[in-house]
Parts: sequence; C-alpha cells; structure tokens
Amino acid sequence: MKVLEIGNVRAEPGSKACGTIAAGNHPAGGALEMPLIVVNGSSDGPVLWLNGCIHGDEPQGPLAIIMLIRELDPAKLKGAVVAVPVMNVPAFEASERGNPLDMFSYDMNRVYPGSANGRFTERLAWAHKEALAAHADMEISIHSGGDHSFLDKTIFAAPGDAALELAQAMGKGWSVILSSPHPKGSPMAELHDQGKPAISIELGGICHTMPDAFRADGRAMADAFWNVLRHYGMVEGEPQYEEKWFTGSQIAVLASTSGLWLAEEGFEFLKPAREGQVLARIYNLYGEELEQIKAPCDGMPFGLRTTPATHTGDWAVFYAKITDEVTALVHPSRAL
Ligand SMILES: [Zn+2]
Repeated sequence: MKVLEIGNVRAEPGSKACGTIAAGNHPAGGALEMPLIVVNGSSDGPVLWLNGCIHGDEPQGPLAIIMLIRELDPAKLKGAVVAVPVMNVPAFEASERGNPLDMFSYDMNRVYPGSANGRFTERLAWAHKEALAAHADMEISIHSGGDHSFLDKTIFAAPGDAALELAQAMGKGWSVILSSPHPKGSPMAELHDQGKPAISIELGGICHTMPDAFRADGRAMADAFWNVLRHYGMVEGEPQYEEKWFTGSQIAVLASTSGLWLAEEGFEFLKPAREGQVLARIYNLYGEELEQIKAPCDGMPFGLRTTPATHTGDWAVFYAKITDEVTALVHPSRAL
C-alpha cells in the first residue's frame, strides 16, 4: 500500500484525510479551493473517485458523499475512495447551475478537460481534471434535477462494458442506463477517453430537499456507492443487483407553448409509458388547455420540470427511449 498525495492532502494507508485542490484566488484575496476527501484503504485495490456539485444547484452530491465518508472505515477498505463533494465552488455558494461570475464558460459539465490558461470555470475544470486523471481508476459524477426539475434514479454511462459494469454495480433501484447526451466536455467523457469507466447518476432536485426527501435521496445514493464498493471487492459483503436493466437514450421533450404546467394525476417516474400517452398539460391563465405533453415513443419518463411557469422551449419531460433490455451482469474487471 502506498501513501496517496492528491492536492494538498497526504493520506497514509489505512487513514482518512481532508484538504483541497487549489483553483486560484477570489478577487478579495482568499484562496479558491475545492474540498477534497481521501480515504486510503489498508490494502491494495482500485481508486473510486466521486464527484459532487459540478452543477451548484445539485446538493444531493455532497450529501451522498458526506454520508458515505462518515461511514467508511479505512481499516476495512481495499484501495481508496477519493471524493470532491463540491467541484464548482462559486456555483454551489450561489446555489446556481453554473458560476454566476463566469458567463463565458458557465456550465462546468461542458468544458472538460478545461484549460490551464482558459476562462474561470475552464481553469477550475483543469485543476480538477489533473488530479482526477492522475489517480482515479473509475469515476461517478453525482447530479440531480437542480432548481428546475426532479429526476429519478437514472444513470448515464460512457460507452463500453467497463462503464456498464460500474452502472450495474449501483445495485437495486438503478435499472435505467442511458448513453451520454454529452460525449465530450464532462469528467465522465474525459475518464472514458483515458480508458477508464465513468458514469453520471441522477437523483433528486431542489424540489426534493425537504428533510425526509433530501435525506432519502442522499441515503439511496450512499447505499449505491456501498454496493459499488462491494462489487469491486473494496469492502466485505455481498453486492445486490437489479434483475434487468433498461438501456437506451435520453429524449428532450420540450414545451411548445408557454403557460402554467401541470403533470397528469397519477404520474409515476420510471414507469413504462406508451407513445402518445399524456404526461402533463400546459394551461393559460384563463383556464384553457394549450398543450398536452405526450410520450414521444414507448419508453419511460425519468424526470419532470418542477417550475410551473413554463416558457416555450423549456424542458418539460426527461424521457428515456429504451432500445434494449440487459439481463446479464457484465464483469470485465474480473479480467484485470
Ligand atoms: Zn447536473
């Protein structure tokens, strides 16, 4: 076992250490740093890297990371867990998707690998990417619906069996695995280009941060990370799996009119829907129905907008077009 040195953290084998990745300075002079946690196990194994809040309005990431880290005992861990609870610090502090101080590279999940000499957020991405690329064997980016949507348990996976294995390792409840709508520009894409498995996961939204709901979403993700650790033999215990996975791609269902949004009574996330099934309606403020938002094909809705005032062109439904069902557990890591 070796000492892990990442950012300003030095973690001896069998220890947990915290620190930061340096990312420049604030205008008033303080250091701009990403929080970093390194749980270095007591024997050899892979490095699982967890990333939260690349979008600042998605606090489920840091919550799930905190829950896992508080429970994880380095003496019982093989390999290491490295976590950045909040990647885009200015965006998190503003509770916004991107950094409001940087309108030119606003969305950090579109600018990877970033640039050492680039714009504000590109430099943040670069500093993070340098550490990630040097140490991670596999990566999970944690997302949610942010301030405009609720998304139920969905995984976006990079291509290939190694990423499919990581997705399947998430365990019970995580049966929808979609191809990435952004094959470039994200940490997941960056890791994939380096031949390492990476996934992005979605659960929750600002609408779901009342105490019980927020805690439950964090718990569900932390439990899934425990399952991943069991799957790769990093901790003791039998991993649990879904019996079947649905693979496909995301369809953006956009509103074609403006008005007041209302989902159909009895709407359920991750429940199969038929093409043409009405999922929601948009009304004008005189009570007239302007539009029915319908399922674009057979598949299942995995997310809905949660802001009732809707503009033409706004996200309405996050919809999964299912193209395949997978019943076999892939396990390319066994060949390593
Ligand atoms: Zn996100």
